[in-house]
Amino acid sequence: MSERLRPGLERRLKSEVTGDVWFDRFTRGRYATDASHYQIMPLGVVAPRSIAEADRVLAVARAEGVPVTARGGGTSQCGQTINTSLIVDCSKHINSLISLDVAARRCVVEPGIVLDELNRQLKPHGLWFPVDISTASRATLGGMVGNNSCGARSLRYGNTRENVMSVDAILADGARAHFGTVSPDLSDVAQDSPLYPMAAALVAIGARERDEIEARFPKVQRRVGGYNLDSFVPGRNALNLAHILIGSEGTLGFTTQIELKLSPLLGRRAVAACHFGSFNAAMDAAQHLVTLGPIAVELVDATMIGLARDIAMFRPTLEQFVRGEPEAILLVEFGEDDQEENLRRLKRLRDMIGDLGFGWDRSGVHWGGVVEVLDPALQAAITEVRTQGLNVMMSMKEQGKPISFVEDCAVPLEHLADYTARLTQVFEKHGTRGTWYAHASVGCLHVRPLLNLRLEKDVKAMRAIAEEAFAMVREYKGSHSGEHGDGIVRSEFNAPMFGPRLAGAFEEVKDTFDPNGRFNPGKIVRAPKFDDRSLLRYPPGYHAEPIATHLDWSAWTGAGAGFQGAVEMCNNNGACRSLVGGVMCPSYRATRDERDVTRGRANTLRLAITGQLGPDALASDAMVETMSLCVSCKACRRECPTGVDMARMKIEVQAARIARHGLSLRDRLVGYLPRYAPYAAKAAWLLNLRDRLPGVARLSEALTGFSASRPLPKWRSDVFEDDKTSWLGSSRPSTSFAEHNVDARHKAGHDAGEVVLFADTFNRYFERENLDAALAVLNAAGYRVHVARAPQRDARPLCCGRTFLSVGLVAEARAEAERTLAALAPYLARSVPVVGLEPSCILGFRDEIPALLKTEAAAQLAASSFLFEEFLMREHDAGRLSLPFKSATGRVLLHGHCHQKSFGAFTSVQRALGLVPGLAVETVESSCCGMAGAFGYGAGTIDVSRAMGELSLLPAVRKADPATTIVADGTSCRQQIFDGSEREALHVARVLAAHLASDDAGTPATRGH
Ligand SMILES: Cc1cc2nc3c(=O)[nH]c(=O)nc-3n(C[C@H](O)[C@H](O)[C@H](O)COP(=O)(O)OP(=O)(O)OC[C@H]3O[C@@H](n4cnc5c(N)ncnc54)[C@H](O)[C@@H]3O)c2cc1C
Ligand code: SF4
Ligand code: SF4
Repeated sequence: MSERLRPGLERRLKSEVTGDVWFDRFTRGRYATDASHYQIMPLGVVAPRSIAEADRVLAVARAEGVPVTARGGGTSQCGQTINTSLIVDCSKHINSLISLDVAARRCVVEPGIVLDELNRQLKPHGLWFPVDISTASRATLGGMVGNNSCGARSLRYGNTRENVMSVDAILADGARAHFGTVSPDLSDVAQDSPLYPMAAALVAIGARERDEIEARFPKVQRRVGGYNLDSFVPGRNALNLAHILIGSEGTLGFTTQIELKLSPLLGRRAVAACHFGSFNAAMDAAQHLVTLGPIAVELVDATMIGLARDIAMFRPTLEQFVRGEPEAILLVEFGEDDQEENLRRLKRLRDMIGDLGFGWDRSGVHWGGVVEVLDPALQAAITEVRTQGLNVMMSMKEQGKPISFVEDCAVPLEHLADYTARLTQVFEKHGTRGTWYAHASVGCLHVRPLLNLRLEKDVKAMRAIAEEAFAMVREYKGSHSGEHGDGIVRSEFNAPMFGPRLAGAFEEVKDTFDPNGRFNPGKIVRAPKFDDRSLLRYPPGYHAEPIATHLDWSAWTGAGAGFQGAVEMCNNNGACRSLVGGVMCPSYRATRDERDVTRGRANTLRLAITGQLGPDALASDAMVETMSLCVSCKACRRECPTGVDMARMKIEVQAARIARHGLSLRDRLVGYLPRYAPYAAKAAWLLNLRDRLPGVARLSEALTGFSASRPLPKWRSDVFEDDKTSWLGSSRPSTSFAEHNVDARHKAGHDAGEVVLFADTFNRYFERENLDAALAVLNAAGYRVHVARAPQRDARPLCCGRTFLSVGLVAEARAEAERTLAALAPYLARSVPVVGLEPSCILGFRDEIPALLKTEAAAQLAASSFLFEEFLMREHDAGRLSLPFKSATGRVLLHGHCHQKSFGAFTSVQRALGLVPGLAVETVESSCCGMAGAFGYGAGTIDVSRAMGELSLLPAVRKADPATTIVADGTSCRQQIFDGSEREALHVARVLAAHLASDDAGTPATRGH
């Protein structure tokens, strides 16, 4: 495929719009997939800055005869948002709340606004858009309208269709039209308006096909397949013309604005976890439970419970609401305005479960009962487990994956038990299995059989299963497309499901609206075969060339000793596009560019290693750009539902780049910092002139790439030296307590045991106060502290290898790791815990070092190393910590380092600060600070670095009153805070040291207290 497909089109677009216009292979590759298993390279991608610009894009496309596919978050599961057309990304710029009428409970939005973002703006007014889909954190309203999306509480609120008042759209000929409520005889639609011929055609089709629609349209609420012709059957008081666009998957027009019906926020709710000893019994019970008027009935089956129990994040929640070993749980939610009424319904539910023959004291299929959940926090935690259901399944590392194609069939509730039992048999017949979850209340259960679509036999099995499943659904008068839409997966089956007559009517609708097939062709009508292997993400011939990798990828399969499998874990679900909550992905939050999100990077890597981006793509400039804003925060490692660890992948990319093109001066200066730091400290005054003498910073920017507009960290000559701390403990490994100098508490007989303090490069050379404070605290608690040092007395200080890894110098990082391990070996041999201050170094002991060195010693270090505050809390929890603090009256504003959050270590800082009586601790809801080691110093990245800091951290710090102590454990975070707010932030060790009750603890005074 040539690099530039339509130079004329690209030129015109670039001259007519100010938004992004991309025709390069890398960007097109990033828009070639959605959350389905297909891949189609688009012609190009445009992200217009406004609706007016979108209009111009469509005009150019029309003039050039090019089809257009609108795109929101790209989270469609059926391939509806990928095509060979020009992709128009609405999510980047066209994403505002245009107007809000609180009294009328209405609002008007642009199509690219994300549902969670909209609801965040509505919340202060007591309102929300109640179509609560699982992808609310990244799905756009334009996409929800496109797919007629359905939330877990659709029983109460209906689907998107029931919650949209009107839609404005640009039509195929460029005319604009408002699709809203009109009288059935169209007397209120001007005959010369662009809308009239379409409205008239819809009314005519509705009248003509009334009987067929009555006979063939499924009667279930969850029917999103085909066009909504049922809205145009005569006999209604009013017609809403918007219904034809809702669920039309961008095939009839381009949505420019949407008027939404809003609902009051839900108040207190009552949730019941109904346990069943048999899956079939649960399915059968659903039809009875809905008669009590719940707002949702959601299924979690035994497999899902088992998988979730294995995930540390979910285990505590499961422990609180799962009793025994149920085969299935139905989560029944009551959400009436009056909580007393909810409680009454809960009681009736308990009685009903008993009447249906279930009891805790019974066995087998009759075992079961109700666990009531009234605590809102636990309710929210359960919702989190439930909405992560799919992601829990997708975390499987095998090549066979749960595949979505029959996953949202909906059947009338009385057939649910029968249908699920028969479909399970179909799976078994084809040698596979599936896990069930989701919306039992509306007969729409998600199930994905495990298949490996690289294999022809599994693609054949996919067709066979689909045909058998859809035949069954037809038999039950259900819907083959109950939530996720048609796309490529279901469109082919619209004719057999709705019958040839209605399939013809669908084509008539398409031809009336879009006679030249310019809007998202091949969806809903005239679709390709859903098992056309050339459309699959893994088509025949898909393979990766051998790749030289440096880290351990053995948990996965494929080229690069498993690297390929790790990269392919991204299933495009888009969780990394969340804009608030969690930490992933900070660079995307700053730029909103698909290139700068974990998904974009993973897709680029997959295409590169499989030769789809041309030769040498892994080491290319475009790949460097793709990775350039990844700050290696490791948030994806924890928060990506399938565990895509981009920070680790980036190391391989950088190593490939160095192997091909060598090392830049900037990367050399960053990587080798621990090697030259001892000399730099001796010439501190000279090096610090860079930020003192006019013009030197500019010169250094030109030479090194470090931005002149940010001062570099100040070198100092009074660095932390291992030997000079001997009053606190030995600088040499030792087994004997008698060899140590001890403080007063030791003399008094309090020996809390030994620890090794690992003095990292950053704290050692730039902020020794932190190490001094940590020593003071550990010492006050009675620990015998060894400061880790290289075995030879004259050797340079130890280093974890972090700086080398950050620029891709893997061999050097490995050498540092080996040196550190050798120095720590005597301590590890006798199980002395290793304690350190800098999160990126200490957590590297748990993450990168075992990935670099597959040795027992590395595993031992991973298990025995702790952040300072983790160690304190471990000791505290074991009842071993004796640390007297004086009372405080102050307030602390705490920012967590990304790696602390990624490794679940952040709560330890909060808890450690809580040891000081009276200290009020508030946490900033922040993602990455934006500094991320050398990232914030780069001339090319400083603007994004600052933008990341401004997302939430820096405004929160500036808002804090001057007496508030700012706490941040990461060196980079402290630098970003100081540069962005002129407030000094402290490591937690200094705050604890400053509050030690004992005056002879000897810590230097902390500023800011
Ligand atoms: C893990 C996971 C869970 C999911 N859970 C749910 C769920 O609970 N309920 C549910 O209903 N769906 C669910 N989905 C499917 C999907 O998230 C929703 O359909 C979502 O609403 C799509 O929004 P989007 O912004 O990603 O749209 P996209 O995928 O980008 O687009 C969807 C369709 O809308 C069209 N479109 C977008 N913008 C416009 C526009 N301006 N004009 C015209 N057409 C436009 C596109 O062309 C496309 O056909 C899930 C998907 C995943 C991966
Ligand atoms: S990187 Fe992870 S979170 Fe992002 S789309 Fe891929 S699988 Fe989802
Ligand atoms: S490491 Fe951080 S910045 Fe990089 S992809 Fe993951 S979440 Fe995004």
